[in-house]
This record gives sequence, structure tokens and C-alpha cells, in this order.
Amino acid sequence: MTQKLYLDHSYETVFEAKVISSRQTESGATEIVLDRTLFYPESGGQLPDHGTLNGVNVVDVQENGDAVVHIASGEVSGSGPLRGAVLWPRRFDHMQQHTGQHILSRAFIKTDKLDTVGFHMGEETCTIDLDGPAPDQAAIGRAEDLSNQIINENRPIDITTMPIEQVDMSELRRKVPEGVRDARIVTVRDFDVIPCCGTHVKTTGELGMIKVLKTERVRNFHRVHFKVGVRAFADYRDKHAVLQELSQRLTTAPLDVNAKVERLMEDAKAGDKRLKALVQRLAAAEAQRLMTEHGAAPRVIAHREPDAMLARAVATEMQKATGTVALIAADDGSVVCVSSRELGIDLATPASALAGELGGSGGGKGGFAQIKIDPSKVDTFLERMTADVRKRFA
Ligand SMILES: [Zn+2]
Repeated sequence: MTQKLYLDHSYETVFEAKVISSRQTESGATEIVLDRTLFYPESGGQLPDHGTLNGVNVVDVQENGDAVVHIASGEVSGSGPLRGAVLWPRRFDHMQQHTGQHILSRAFIKTDKLDTVGFHMGEETCTIDLDGPAPDQAAIGRAEDLSNQIINENRPIDITTMPIEQVDMSELRRKVPEGVRDARIVTVRDFDVIPCCGTHVKTTGELGMIKVLKTERVRNFHRVHFKVGVRAFADYRDKHAVLQELSQRLTTAPLDVNAKVERLMEDAKAGDKRLKALVQRLAAAEAQRLMTEHGAAPRVIAHREPDAMLARAVATEMQKATGTVALIAADDGSVVCVSSRELGIDLATPASALAGELGGSGGGKGGFAQIKIDPSKVDTFLERMTADVRKRFA
């Protein structure tokens, strides 16, 4: 059994302990059980602490019955007691996220009667799963406001361990698990009471702030993603930097960026529409010019346009004419092959085969084929395809 020092000393990071057992794994890691530890093992939705044992990195900590198993990345040498050191920024981050979760979960109950049925702490964000109707933006705002009010009031957080008979069950947000004789009760004064074995801060002010990032539906629950304290500030800093840059690039105030983007998207959409209409007109004129240039039907027209959109539109126009096979290429290596319907010429089979031979790909059906090849092979494709079609016309 390991004495769990972290339960009463969550602010301490350095300790000495005796080795109870030590085992080298195949990967070269060492699994060590100590008689006492400050390392918090992964449990209750909270991530494990990291740190060192005699200078060797502890990369994972797990519970195995009453024992806490430390997974060190290499061999831990030295005689006598081991010196352990918990990585404080990570530990404090977990204390902030975990304590923040207590407050946010209680806030959702108080503001909208939404119970938390699950908690997960991730390396990036934490989540709680809420039972009941989906919280809308206003509900989230209410829970955020109450949570941050509790933080600003800097309320004490008391942790007491007592025999189960002495616990006032009516106050608890969650039941004490079956079989527990001594319950560890975590109380955010006059706000939230819950049995919990995680690590917590001493006063709510240490949380700094709580921010909900988004919600999503997961099975029957509504998952709320949030960040607390240092994480929340880092998130604010990163997002502010992005917004600041966008605001400068769009020459508008940060809070007007959305409206500006909306206008730009509308402009782009209108521009697209105009472009399509102009390409259509240009394609019709270009198709007419090519047919005049190539004389009376039947005709095989191989032609190159710089732009793929225009090339496709020219090919579509050509298909409307009678007695015509058109191979219209673009500078990006795309080629559209079309033949007038009444000719009944198969272009798809030879075009796909030739494209494959030239290292490209293609597809289509009957008198229509669309292929893509290296732009340097376009002229070769047009020459050989033209020769092939001419042979079949004759
Ligand atoms: Zn807790």
C-alpha cells in the first residue's frame, strides 16, 4: 500500500520515499511502487502528475489496488530512499482545471438545473457532460458568470475526511461511492459539496477565470468544453493574437471582423457569379470562332486555353454542335473531350487509356471524357488523340 501524500499536501512537490517494488519493463521503463508518494495517479477523470524520481522522468502514474505505480522512462538507480519531485506547473494546472470543474458543474445546477454526469480532463481542454436539455448561449453565459463570481469572491475550499456516518448526504452533489468508510469531502464554501479524491486549490481566487469554449451533443448528453486559469488565459492570448492580426489585415476593429468577413464572402460570391456569366459568354464566342476556323462538319478540333474553367465551358458549347469532336485542354493539364451525340463516337475508352499511358488519369462515358495529365504532356495527348479520332472518322 502507498501512503497518498498528495491528498493532504497538494501544494508540496518534493518528497522522499522507500521503494516497495521495482520492475524493469521490456521497453526499458521502470515501474516503481513507493511506500509514500506526492504523485497523483490518473483517476476520477484527472490526469496523472509528471516529474522525476532520482532525476529520471516519471511519465505516467497509475493506481493498482492500494498501490500507486510510477512509470519512469529509464532505470532509476541509487541506494536508500528515492527523491521524488512533482512537476509543479502541470500539477497546478490540474488543480485549477479540477477545482474549476467543481464550480462550473455546481453553477449549471444552480442556474439551469443541469446535472454533470461525466468529467474528462484532457491535455488541451476539459469537458463535462450535462444531462437534460441543451444549454443555449444564454445558459452557458449564466453558468460562466456565476462561476467567475465565485472565483472573484475568493471563497475558501475546505477538504475534510470523515467517517461516512458523519457526512450530511443531503448537501452532496454526488453520492459517496459504495464501500467507502471514510469520505473525503471537498467544499467550496456555501456553494458546492462533493466527495472527491483529486487535487484542489485552497481558495477559488487561485482559479483566475473559467471560460466555456463550445458545446456539442454526445449520445444523450451535452458536452461542455472549458478551460480554467492559466489555460484559459493562454487561450485568450492566442485567440486575441489571431483576432488582432485579422483586424489589421481587414482594416477593421476586432469586434467588427465578423461583419467584415461576411461582406467579403458576399462580394466573393457575387464575383463568382459574374465570372461564371462572363466565362459562359466568352466560351460561346470562342466555340463559334473555332468552328468557323475549322470549316464544315465533320471536324476534329484540338484546342488549348490557359484557364481550366474556360476550357470546360468551351467544350460544353462544342458538344451542342453537330458533326464535331472537340478536345479542349487547359494549362493545368486537364483536358475535356466531347463529341456530338449523333456521331456515337467512344472517346472515354481511348482517352482514359492514353491518359494512363502518359502517367495521368481520366474517366467518362461514351462521347465524353475528362482527363488530367502532367501539363508538359498535353500537346502529345492532343496530337495522338486527334490522330486516333481522325482514323475512326475516315
Ligand atoms: Zn475534486
